[in-house]
Amino acid sequence: MRKKDIELILRKYLKKTGRQRTLDTLNKDDCKIPTKKDIEKKSAPKLSFTIQKAPERKIDIEVVPKRKKKRKSETEAVNFFSENIMKIPDTFKNLATTIGLPEAHLDFFYKHRDRFHWEVKKDRKIYCTGKRGMCNFNTIVAPKCLFDHMVIEHFHRELKCKENNCFYVGYSETNMKMHAAQFHGIAKFGSLRNNGFPCTYLPCDYAGTSYADLQKHQAVHENKLHRCEFCTYSSPAPKNLDFHMLSHFRILNFECHLCPSKFSRQLDLSRHQKCHTNENFECNYCHDAFEKRHLLQKHLSSCETRLNYVKNR
Ligand SMILES: [Zn+2]
Ligand SMILES: [Zn+2]
Ligand SMILES: [Zn+2]
Ligand SMILES: [Zn+2]
Ligand SMILES: [Zn+2]
Ligand SMILES: [Zn+2]
Repeated sequence: MRKKDIELILRKYLKKTGRQRTLDTLNKDDCKIPTKKDIEKKSAPKLSFTIQKAPERKIDIEVVPKRKKKRKSETEAVNFFSENIMKIPDTFKNLATTIGLPEAHLDFFYKHRDRFHWEVKKDRKIYCTGKRGMCNFNTIVAPKCLFDHMVIEHFHRELKCKENNCFYVGYSETNMKMHAAQFHGIAKFGSLRNNGFPCTYLPCDYAGTSYADLQKHQAVHENKLHRCEFCTYSSPAPKNLDFHMLSHFRILNFECHLCPSKFSRQLDLSRHQKCHTNENFECNYCHDAFEKRHLLQKHLSSCETRLNYVKNR
């Protein structure tokens, strides 16, 4: 039976039995048998105590005079190249100018200042980074000092990307292959259209997770790269340029514990160490060969050639 019918029957019954007062009460709004809608409308029960707002804290904010807005291109340029800003003392800046160290790499030279002996001219050496650091060509440090060597010995030259809406210019065949794979091809990251920040260089299907992410990506389209001032090298990632610089100056912090080889990156060390996992474990100091790695390791602790090498280092 529906609620309305019940109400109707109830009213009829009350009228019939002459209970006018009850009927009057029932006619008042709040005494109606509540319908489903009424129940839903019912407001939340009131709390028996009131929640008091915490007093507002007053903070004295120093009024900073507004700086003149920089032109858009200016701010962009600043953001692009200032990921690791360091305070470099003027004395160091002056020294750099005297020697002829490019300003673009001052952060690097200051960060690794204890590794250089600039006062000795013959120690102002810079090495070629070609052949994964295996080219031993070196010269006295100066802007563009390795440029000709790279072009003549390693066949470096400017190569334009042929993809639509990509203005990237690479410096070698290998570099172009890497760009093609990592930026346009199978090794590409983050090509999810639903990431929220889609690339505007169509038909590129990249979408960044943030605006900064997108900017980094689009910088590659626009050929805004971090460049080495000594040779032909450039990279979209400042971190890669840093590794490149370590390699130029043979700052090798990753040593192989099985041979005298040293590397500037963990990645290169790991790649190198694969050569020790071959069938024959050869001692790189005396060239004795062993069948098992642990036998080579045991040998290393007593290899005289190695001990002499370590002693004379
Ligand atoms: Zn070289
Ligand atoms: Zn491209
Ligand atoms: Zn793109
Ligand atoms: Zn370089
Ligand atoms: Zn090794
Ligand atoms: Zn040995």
